[in-house]
Amino acid sequence: MPDPGAARSFWLEEALRHDPGEPCPPLDANVVADVCIVGGGFAGLWTAVRLGEREPGLRIALVEQDIVGGGASGRNGGFFSSSWWDLPALTGLFGEWEGLRYALALADSVAEARAFCATNGIDCWFHLDGAMGVRAGPWQEGISRRSAIDLCARLGYGDRMIALSAAETRDRADSPTFVGGAFIRDAAVVQPARLARGLRRLLLERGVRIYERTRVAGVDRSRPAVVRTDHGAVRADRVVLTHGSWAAGWRDFARSFSVIVDYIVVTEPIPDRLEEIGWTSQMGIADGREWLYYLRPTDDGRIAIGGGADGVVFGGRASGRAVTHDRRVAEVAARGLLRMFPQLEGTRFTHAWGGPIDQTPAFVPFYRTLEPGTIHAGLGYSGHGLSQTYVGGKILASTVLGVDDQWTSLAVNRPETVKAPPEPLRWPAVKVIASALERGDAREDAGKRRGVVNELLGLGPIGLRERYVARRQ
Ligand SMILES: Cc1cc2nc3c(=O)[nH]c(=O)nc-3n(C[C@H](O)[C@H](O)[C@H](O)COP(=O)(O)OP(=O)(O)OC[C@H]3O[C@@H](n4cnc5c(N)ncnc54)[C@H](O)[C@@H]3O)c2cc1C
Repeated sequence: MPDPGAARSFWLEEALRHDPGEPCPPLDANVVADVCIVGGGFAGLWTAVRLGEREPGLRIALVEQDIVGGGASGRNGGFFSSSWWDLPALTGLFGEWEGLRYALALADSVAEARAFCATNGIDCWFHLDGAMGVRAGPWQEGISRRSAIDLCARLGYGDRMIALSAAETRDRADSPTFVGGAFIRDAAVVQPARLARGLRRLLLERGVRIYERTRVAGVDRSRPAVVRTDHGAVRADRVVLTHGSWAAGWRDFARSFSVIVDYIVVTEPIPDRLEEIGWTSQMGIADGREWLYYLRPTDDGRIAIGGGADGVVFGGRASGRAVTHDRRVAEVAARGLLRMFPQLEGTRFTHAWGGPIDQTPAFVPFYRTLEPGTIHAGLGYSGHGLSQTYVGGKILASTVLGVDDQWTSLAVNRPETVKAPPEPLRWPAVKVIASALERGDAREDAGKRRGVVNELLGLGPIGLRERYVARRQ
């Protein structure tokens, strides 16, 4: 396995080879826009798409410190998921009707995004073949949990998430570790960097000005606001902040979320071996550990797998070496594949990389307007941003345009409800919990008990969310 951090993600490399796109030079002057978007990930890109569709004459500028897709959006697992597995938590957080309404919006976003890509010539390997949550060991529950399946059924969506026997999971992908699971019909996988770069191309065609390699140093809260960069500024009536994990380094968001780090590794092309294990569709798989593994095939016959362990970042240092160069965490991901599919022993890994995740205590994003009322933030997509940013783009576009509609009325459209602990306490606290979760998973894999300390510490983040949910009920 190559060292992580030596290159960009497999996805971004592949996408840039496929279509490098026209250059978007850095900002080197003072310019004027109606709306300035900070951050060229999915949250910013979808917001720009919706704004342009709803008000075609709007002058939109998008400022990105790296290149579009250089952040989490070009480095993730590519699971474009409906969230039926999380329905109990969503209904707990937002109430039954509102939780279901958000889950439906996320589910609808999958098919809608696929149609959007087809209509606009974005070839991003979009496959709506479903996702399988597996119990890769009798101790696991994870995304195939019974409470989610039962709640889907009770609310009239029993066809979206169905229980699978051990044999049925192994029919879809033959791992000797699978003892059961669930199939989520309306989930997809994509090549995420092709999607980000495809949206970039579309926005340029539609007249959006994109400035790459331009870091925003701050936003003056004047009317109009001034978005300051090293060699120029954008004076804009409205500003949208979608700068992901990096926002944790800004005072306004210092306690909005923790930044954790996931690593992904990709195998060499192994189409024959995929065939041998019977994994012949483009279905994604996730297991039921505390630090779950998620894996999916690629269009060129590889497997990409991430998870199994996480790194933790101090404050908002989302570009630091902990995010890009942690070989230990990347190796945990690689080992996860061979544990799940021992038949793949001897397979080479050709790519490894890490990316930051803006993990809120409630595990859902937040939307907040800053003084003087013209600066809107959409952040905290908590490792599940593909469908959530699609919906987030609609929420942010309506907010910017001052429209009250079915998007702004979604219950998720609200500021943070629980704050993350401040630094310097946060980093050690999250680190201890992350280690306990990982250690507990490793012990259970080895047929041992999780251990009381691991169990108690591991309850930390989930316990916090559940206590919050219980308080609301
Ligand atoms: C390894 C990994 C695996 C994941 N797997 C999945 C998955 O399978 N499915 C899923 O739904 N989600 C997944 N996620 C999460 C998903 O990638 C994110 O939720 C989503 O991409 C968030 O989009 P965003 O636009 O908010 O952030 P980003 O894509 O990070 O975009 C923010 C952008 O802002 C830019 N920026 C930051 N600061 C500044 C500044 N000061 N000036 C200018 N620009 C700035 C950054 O460079 C970045 O490009 C994963 C994440 C990681 C890291």
